[in-house]
Amino acid sequence: MRVFKFGGASVKDAEGIKNVYDVLQKVGYEDVLLVVSAMGKTTNALETVIKNYFDKSAELNSSVQEVKKYHNQILMDLFEEEKHEVFTAVNNQFSDLEYFLAHNKSPNYNFVYDQIVSYGELISTTILSNFMSFMGIKTQWLDVRNFIKTDATYRDAEVDWELTQKNIAKNVKRKILNITQGFLGSDENNFTTTLGREGSDYTAAIFAYCLNAESVTIWKDVPGVMNADPRYFENASLLNQISYREAIELAFYGATVIHPKTLQPLQKKEIPLFVKSFINPLLPGTRVAKGADLEPYLPCFIVKRNQLLISLSSIDFSFIMEENISEIFALFHQFKIKVNLIQNSAISFSVCVEDKFENFKDLNAILSKKFKVDFDENVTLYTIRHFNDKAAQTVEENKTVLLKQVSRETMQVVTKES
Ligand code: ADP
Ligand code: ASP
Ligand code: MG
Repeated sequence: MRVFKFGGASVKDAEGIKNVYDVLQKVGYEDVLLVVSAMGKTTNALETVIKNYFDKSAELNSSVQEVKKYHNQILMDLFEEEKHEVFTAVNNQFSDLEYFLAHNKSPNYNFVYDQIVSYGELISTTILSNFMSFMGIKTQWLDVRNFIKTDATYRDAEVDWELTQKNIAKNVKRKILNITQGFLGSDENNFTTTLGREGSDYTAAIFAYCLNAESVTIWKDVPGVMNADPRYFENASLLNQISYREAIELAFYGATVIHPKTLQPLQKKEIPLFVKSFINPLLPGTRVAKGADLEPYLPCFIVKRNQLLISLSSIDFSFIMEENISEIFALFHQFKIKVNLIQNSAISFSVCVEDKFENFKDLNAILSKKFKVDFDENVTLYTIRHFNDKAAQTVEENKTVLLKQVSRETMQVVTKES
C-alpha cells in the first residue's frame, strides 16, 4: 500500500481538488491511503472562531459563517447541482460545530480548541471523498479518530501506538482509495485530539508505519525538499535524495517542508518518503531513504524568524553551573518556550528561543530575581548544514551578527537586520 498526503495548499480551492484527481489518475489510486489536511487556511480561520468563542466576541457567528461560505463556494464549483448529498453532509458538519459552540460547558481551552479545529479536516475529507466518488473512483471515507488513539494532551497529543496499530491493521481496506483526515486523533473517551499544528505529515507516517506501507508521498507546492525555502532564497535547488538522518536534522532546525515527527516512524521501518510537486506529479521530487547520501551535496539553509535571544548572567559573578542550567530549562519547559540554540560561558548563558505562546514576560519576571537578563527581540536564526565560507558569507552579509556557533556539519548564526 502507498500512503499519500495532500496538505492545505493543495486543496485550497476547487481547482486544487480537481488537481488531486488528476494526480491520482497519473500516479494510480488503487491500494492507496490518502491523508488530507484542512483546505487552505481553514485551520487559522477556525482558530479565529475559537478566539471569538472564548472572548465572547460579537464576531463569533460571522467568523463561522466565513468558514462556511468558503467551503460552500468550493462545493458549488465542484458539484453541478446542489442536490448532491455532499451539500447535506457538509451542512450537517457545520450544524454539529454550531451545536458544540452553543452547548459546550468545558472551560478547558485546549480541549475546546481540538473539538472545533478538527472540523477543518472532517469537512475537507468529506468534500474530497465525495468528489472522487463523483468522478468514478471507488472511495472509502475513514474517520481517523477510530484509528489513531492518543492520550488526552489536547493540541499536542501523544500517539498510543499499540492501540493505533491494532485499529489500523483491522480496518483499512486494501484495493480501494481510502481517504482520511490528517492531524486528528481521539483519546480514550473518544474526544477529538490533535497532533500539533502542521501534523498531517505525521499522520501519513503513522499510517505507513502501521500498514507496513511501501512508501509515503507528501505532495507539495514545491518540487521537493530544496536546499533552502524558495520563498526566502532565490537560488534554491532541489535535493534529489537525502538520508533520514539529514531530513530529521533539516526538519529539526526548522525546514517546514516536512513535519519533524514524520521521519522517525518511517526510518524505523525503512519506508521511503517522497516529497513531490502536486503541479508536476511525474517528476521524481526528493527521495528520503536509508543511506541516501545528500545529492547534490550543497549547503542547506534554514531560516527561523521572530526569535528571541536571551542572555542570562549571574548577578554576583558566580558560575552558571549544571544546577542553574537545569532550573532554567525546567522554566523554559514550564512556559512552553522552545529553545533553538544554546551557548554558555563561565558566568553567562545565552539561548535563542521561540516564544509562540507569548510567555516570556512572565518568565522574565521569575528569571530576573536570580539573574541579570538581557534580551533582543525579533532576531533571526540561520542554520546552515554543510556550510562553507561562501554560504556563511551569504547569511552574514548586511546583518549584525549577535551570536555564532559552529560545529562540524552545522553553523548557526543569530542576526538582527541592519
Ligand atoms: P502543506 O500544504 O503540506 O501544509 P507546507 O506549506 O507546510 O505544505 O510546506 C510547503 C512549503 O514549505 C513550501 O511552500 C516552502 O515555502 C516551504 N519550505 C520550507 N523549507 C523548504 C525547503 N527546504 N524545501 C522546500 N520547501 C520548503
Ligand atoms: N490543518 C492543520 C494545520 O494547518 C494540520 C496540517 O495542515 O498539517 O496545522
Ligand atoms: Mg502545512
